[in-house]
Amino acid sequence: MSRAVLEIIGERIRENCKNIFKYTGKKIIAVVKSDAYGIGIRYIAPLLENVDEVEYFAVASPDEGAVLRNIGVRKKILVLGGVLKEEIDTLLENSLIPVVSDMSHYKLVKDLKIPFHVKFDTGMGRLGFTEPVKLEGTVEGIMSHFSTPTDRCFSMAQVEAFKKIVEAYKDIGVVHMESSAGLIYNLDFTTHVRIGLAIYGEKPVRDYPINIKPSLTLKAKVISVKELPSGYPISYGRTYITRGPTKIGVVAFGYADGLMKSLSNKLKLMVKSKNVPVIGNITMDMTIVDITGTDVKEGDWIYIVNEHQTFSHISKLAGTIPYEIMCNISSRVERKIV
Ligand SMILES: *Cc1c(COP(=O)(O)O)cnc(C)c1O
Repeated sequence: MSRAVLEIIGERIRENCKNIFKYTGKKIIAVVKSDAYGIGIRYIAPLLENVDEVEYFAVASPDEGAVLRNIGVRKKILVLGGVLKEEIDTLLENSLIPVVSDMSHYKLVKDLKIPFHVKFDTGMGRLGFTEPVKLEGTVEGIMSHFSTPTDRCFSMAQVEAFKKIVEAYKDIGVVHMESSAGLIYNLDFTTHVRIGLAIYGEKPVRDYPINIKPSLTLKAKVISVKELPSGYPISYGRTYITRGPTKIGVVAFGYADGLMKSLSNKLKLMVKSKNVPVIGNITMDMTIVDITGTDVKEGDWIYIVNEHQTFSHISKLAGTIPYEIMCNISSRVERKIV
């Protein structure tokens, strides 16, 4: 019996894919790098394997692609991070499709007679050719990536730069640029969209035009309840002192599970549709909440994430992005499809 569970609402994830397809009219390259953003690839991959709107999976490395094959994935797998010499066997054995981002990748791949995609850097300053290149071999697709999808002006310059490149390679069937936030530009010259976050139920921007439903729940058990008098210090460093008689609940979830210490005295958790504030410092395995006036008991579930408080909400409080918090949910947190 696990004390902390990340629940994956399978039906919602399927619906998010359908809604992305409905809005864009484009098949999805489902980005499942880094253990499906920390959610758990063993749970996410079989689910998406059975969603018609998902045509490809995308991972960071050949090793991650091999994991997908071991799980039983048969759809196409794109390796966003390209391929190194020592990874070619893994690539071939698992029928993975590398993304070629520089001449060194290209030299490795062009004689293998396998399909590959080519990436162009239009302002991301990471992977990709910055100039059009003469390409031979089995180019299946070309792609680019937004660096700042919330900046319309800069993104439009990236779009124009990529559009010119696409026009120079007329005969290529698969063209992709939009990520979750980039979807708002609804480009008319791409054939696929490359989506992670939105599939998992997190809206990348406010006023997102696509119907995306929260699909993850993170909960942990209360392992102890007690009453403390006024003026009593809470947790390491005594950063919180009770302001009156206080009932506290100790929740089995701490920074080792992925709840950053910087959220101490800021975050609220939820129990029975009530908010309960985190008081004092978050510790490695435990977090303390003020449950005064509730009937919360030992063994009750407290929610860290649910449809009222998504990873995106929490990330704003922590001064980071939802991706980082999701990727840091530790392996001791049980994953469950519901
Ligand atoms: C991670 C990643 C994506 C997916 O981004 P989301 O914001 O999660 O949709 C798309 N393209 C590339 C190149 C990526 O690295």
